[in-house]
Amino acid sequence: MRTLRGRLILSHILPLLLIVPIVGFALVYVLETQVLLADFSHELAQHGALSADLASARPAIWSDAAEAHQFVTLFSIRSQSSVMLFDAQGNLLAASEPGYDERLGQPLTLPNLSAALAGEQQVQVDYTRSVQAEIIQVLMPVVGPNQQIMGVVRMSQYLSDVQDQLTRLRYVIAAVLAAGFVLAVVVGLVLALNLGRSLQQVTDAIYGVASGREWKTLPEEGPKEIRTLLVAFNTLIEQLRVLEESRRRLLANLVHELGRPLGAIQSALQALRSGAEQDPELRQELLEGMDTQVHRLRPLLDSLTDLHDQVLGTLELNRQSMALGDWLRRTVSPWRQSAHDQGLHWRTEIPDSLPVLEIDPDRLAQALGNLLSNAIKYTPEGTVSVEASVRDSHVAIVVADTGIGIAPTEQERIFEPFYRSRRDKRFPQGMGLGLSIARDLVHAHGGRLEVASAPEQGSRFTIWLPLDGDQP
Ligand code: ADP
Repeated sequence: MRTLRGRLILSHILPLLLIVPIVGFALVYVLETQVLLADFSHELAQHGALSADLASARPAIWSDAAEAHQFVTLFSIRSQSSVMLFDAQGNLLAASEPGYDERLGQPLTLPNLSAALAGEQQVQVDYTRSVQAEIIQVLMPVVGPNQQIMGVVRMSQYLSDVQDQLTRLRYVIAAVLAAGFVLAVVVGLVLALNLGRSLQQVTDAIYGVASGREWKTLPEEGPKEIRTLLVAFNTLIEQLRVLEESRRRLLANLVHELGRPLGAIQSALQALRSGAEQDPELRQELLEGMDTQVHRLRPLLDSLTDLHDQVLGTLELNRQSMALGDWLRRTVSPWRQSAHDQGLHWRTEIPDSLPVLEIDPDRLAQALGNLLSNAIKYTPEGTVSVEASVRDSHVAIVVADTGIGIAPTEQERIFEPFYRSRRDKRFPQGMGLGLSIARDLVHAHGGRLEVASAPEQGSRFTIWLPLDGDQP
């Protein structure tokens, strides 16, 4: 019994093996004593009463032995029992059973006979397993016209007389219990097979994932515990899919980002080798070009460093009390120059009344920097602005631009690691990590990062920071 299925079936069958025989015996006993024998005794009592009435109407039986014998034989056949007739003194007058000839005319000592001679009806049931024993005895006083006791009719049945009915009853009970047992085993088997199948399905799916064959989610059905297992499994698969997607995008972006500057550097080197070195002007131009390309690799390295931190989970904050207004003005002022360099208008609205918050100034500046660099990068002309205000129980820092905007379908995806829009090829894109990192940093502060944007209408990124520190 090493399988769960086998154990379940066994746990179904073992109690039944114990319970079914006990219930069977109890049922047989109760039905035989309380129902069947009660029924027989009632029937026999009715025959007894009828025979007593007829006996009182046939006075000849008390004096004529042949009449008496005919009487007991007749009733014995009718009631399928053994019948005896006693006179008022308790002497045996006739018996339907053979073997009593010797004792005719003599008194018989029988239990309760004297009570019957005194006028009381007697119905006695003895439950016994011996086939030869009497189980029902009925003693009916025969009352004469003047209410005097003329004698007693005794009817009795042996166990062997009712054996057929009892055997039939036992067969019926055994058949019913056997059917119940088979049904229980079948139900147990079906349940165990179902459970085994669900577990096997999850196991196969896990092997499928482990061997890289397929990443399929499973239908969440079945009993509660199995459903919970399936939900957990499907969540895991979704996480793995996101991770796998990130990994693919990372590789594609890396190849792309490394390929471009390396290709340019390689061409410049080749040009230098094949004689461009002799021309000082061309040489200078090529060297400057190489320098620019090497500089282009810098942000890539920064992004990879951030990613490294993110993967290692080292987003630990070094919180300090900061007057948010002053900090914000200081932090965004370097970006004014970048905006102006791009020919953009720059606008800030940072009130002095902003509260003091517990923040990690460097980490939050990094998040803000990612938003501002995007705003400047994706705005060919117009304005980039930073506004801050207290709303409800939060400080809202809004970085807005009038740039190319983001399509609604992309607005959720831009926060995924390595996601970058393919919509507008005019703009040099980064590794697709800036927003993902910004969101993680804001989350680490207990806040959230939201976007509102429409294509060609510009974008508004809002950092919500809770006033009372950490909030989920
Ligand atoms: P990247 O470093 O490639 O800019 P981000 O994670 O910062 O990556 O941004 C992901 C994508 O979101 C970008 O590729 C860009 O398409 C879009 N995006 C981000 N900020 C803006 C913005 N202010 N205006 C328009 N598109 C934006």
